[in-house]
This record gives sequence, C-alpha cells and structure tokens, in this order.
Amino acid sequence: MSTVLVTGGSGFIGSHCILQLLAAGYTVRTTVRSLEREADVRAMLKVGGAEPGERLTFYAADLLKDDGWAVAMKGCEYVLHVASPFPARVPDDENEIIRPAVDGTVRVLGAALNADVRRVVMTSSFAAVGYGHKSQDKPFTEANWTNLKGKDVLPYVKSKTLAEHEAWNFIGRVRGALELAVVNPVGVFGPVLGPDLSTSILIVQRLLEGAVPGCPKIWFGAVDVRDVADLHLRAMMHPEAKGDRFLAVAGDFVSFREIAAILKSRMGEWGKRVPTMQIPNWIVRLVAMRDPAAKQIVPELGKRKNATSEHAQQLLGWKPRSREDAIVATAESLVQLGLVKGGK
Ligand code: NAP
Repeated sequence: MSTVLVTGGSGFIGSHCILQLLAAGYTVRTTVRSLEREADVRAMLKVGGAEPGERLTFYAADLLKDDGWAVAMKGCEYVLHVASPFPARVPDDENEIIRPAVDGTVRVLGAALNADVRRVVMTSSFAAVGYGHKSQDKPFTEANWTNLKGKDVLPYVKSKTLAEHEAWNFIGRVRGALELAVVNPVGVFGPVLGPDLSTSILIVQRLLEGAVPGCPKIWFGAVDVRDVADLHLRAMMHPEAKGDRFLAVAGDFVSFREIAAILKSRMGEWGKRVPTMQIPNWIVRLVAMRDPAAKQIVPELGKRKNATSEHAQQLLGWKPRSREDAIVATAESLVQLGLVKGGK
C-alpha cells in the first residue's frame, strides 16, 4: 500500500481521514503546525479506535511558510489537502484566513508536483459553490461557483472560493503532471474525537448547552464527517475522479430550528436545554453589530438553498448516512467526551 499525506491531521475532518486511511491499510503521514500536537492527534485517533504506532508519522508545516512541505511529501503517492482556517468568527482582517487558504494551497500543490505525487484531493467547501447568489429552488451542483461579487460574501467564503480557483488554475498550468480532485462538503457533523471543536460542531454544542437564546432563520446542508472522509478516499482512488469536484451533502438542507428539533427529540434528557424558539432576523442583525460570531450568519438570514450529491453517488458509489444521524452522532460524542458544559 502506498503512503498518503494528510494536511491538518489535528482537525476534525483531517483526523477522520487519517482513521479511514489507516483502516484501508495505507501508511499515513500528517502535517501539524506544531509537533507538540502529536500526542493530541494520537489521543483523538484512539477515541476513533486506532493506535497506529509507526504507521503514522508527523511533520511540522504551516500553510504560511515554505518549510517542511517538501520533506513531508517525499515518497507520497497521494495528498489529502484538508488544512485551512475555519474560524468561528469573522476576523478583523480577511487576509488572516485568505492568505493561509490560498497561498497554502499553492504551496501544497507546488510541493506535491515537485515530489511526483500522483493525485491531490483538496477539501474545498460548499462555500466555494453556493454563496453570493439569491435564494433559488434549484439545488446547487458542482457546475456552480460562489459569486465573489455578490452581496455580503464573508472572508471564509472568499478564502475557500479563491483557494479552489487557485488550485484549478495551478492544475491547468502543469498540464497533466499532477492530478486534482476536490471535495466540497456542506456543514460537517458526526462524531468528534477530542476537545478541539470545529466551527460546525459548535452549533450542536451551543444548542445542547442552551447557550443560544433561540434559532435564527438559516438553512444549511449537513453531512457526516465519516462520509466526508470516505468521499476523500473515493476521490483519491477512482480513476475518473481526477479533474472533478464532488459536493458532499446528505439530503436536503436543514434549518437551524430543525436541528434543534432533532436534538430535542433524540437526545432525551440531554436535549432539555435545546431552545426551539425562532429568533426574528432583526434581533440577529442587532446582536451581530457587536458579536463577530453572529455576524457570520447575517448574510444567510432567510435564504433557502439546497445542493445535491448525485454526482458523487453516481460516479463514485458514495452513500452518505442521513443528516439526522450525523447531527445526533455529534451530540452523542460531545456527551461521551464530557464536552457539554453544565451536564444534563
Ligand atoms: P478544523 O477542525 O478547525 O481543522 C482545521 C485544520 O486546519 C487544523 O488541523 C488546523 O491546524 C489546520 N490549519 C489551520 N490553519 C493552518 C495553517 N496556517 N497552517 C497549517 N494548518 C492550518 O476544521 P475542519 O472542520 O476539520 O475543516 C477542515 C477543512 O474542511 C477546512 O479546509 C474547511 O474549510 C473544510 N470544510 C469544513 C466544513 C465543516 O463544516 N467542518 C465544511 C466544509 C469544508 P491547527 O490544529 O494547528 O489549528
């Protein structure tokens, strides 16, 4: 079996990709910004059922610096480029997230090309597909791109869109010397492996803790992290996946209020603090004037959208579990790991 490098093994999606690569028999390497995180990552993998020992090795590399990437990739057949900033709040300077996303992608692809890597699978996002547009009934597909000239496109959305554009431009320039496939997940849920929570998980944690007063009128897609990792492996292995993008979404988009209702009905005693009251848009806008976390959702207020994963299902035989199960798996893992403040 060949060697695969996963960038950002300390992250939610990165750690699940490592688990599935190990289970499939690959030798795995991962980059972390600081090698001090090796113990955390090994602890997360243990929660996920793996103790890989020497089949997993760690390399220090930062998306903002050239150091470390060449060594990490030497001898790898595939790279899963997962690392990218995914902050919970809108930063004061958008370049804090755009630069690592875009320059980091070029660094990773450049190092992969120099190391004769066969294929890179990049974790892009629905953020690069369905933003900056008006509400539409037709589901978004891989043919769609976020409109960066649209109203209120936030820095994270820009970072993912620009990074994916840059990746395809790079691949165009190298004319077949490196293959690229891209996975575009919607909101990723499913079991967490440790206390360093991805932004998507905070929604479930805050609902369980009753830490939000109610439900803003927003809709988003949901998919389980195990299915997102599985799609990365399929995009890595399937001959026809090269040069293509794949939306990762399980069923129709779900409203914040529906997520609250799922948690309330399926989490027993743990669901009792979950608020289900709808918050009017004007209140969210008012709060967002002072709260950078609330600011993140303002452009999406009242916008209905949808996306389809038919392409991944048909070409790659991908079958995601339901969005409800993904959301409940998040909640159950937070409870099991003692990550819901205040207990039942
Ligand atoms: P996460 O848990 O926050 O992981 C982000 C990873 O990126 C971490 O390993 C982090 O390393 C790494 N990273 C951030 N800045 C870096 C830098 N300058 N240099 C090197 N590594 C850096 O988030 P996630 O949910 O797993 O997201 C992973 C990827 O999936 C991102 O590309 C994100 O845009 C994409 N995505 C996520 C979702 C979702 O809902 N979760 C949906 C669509 C797409 P540290 O541990 O050192 O911070």
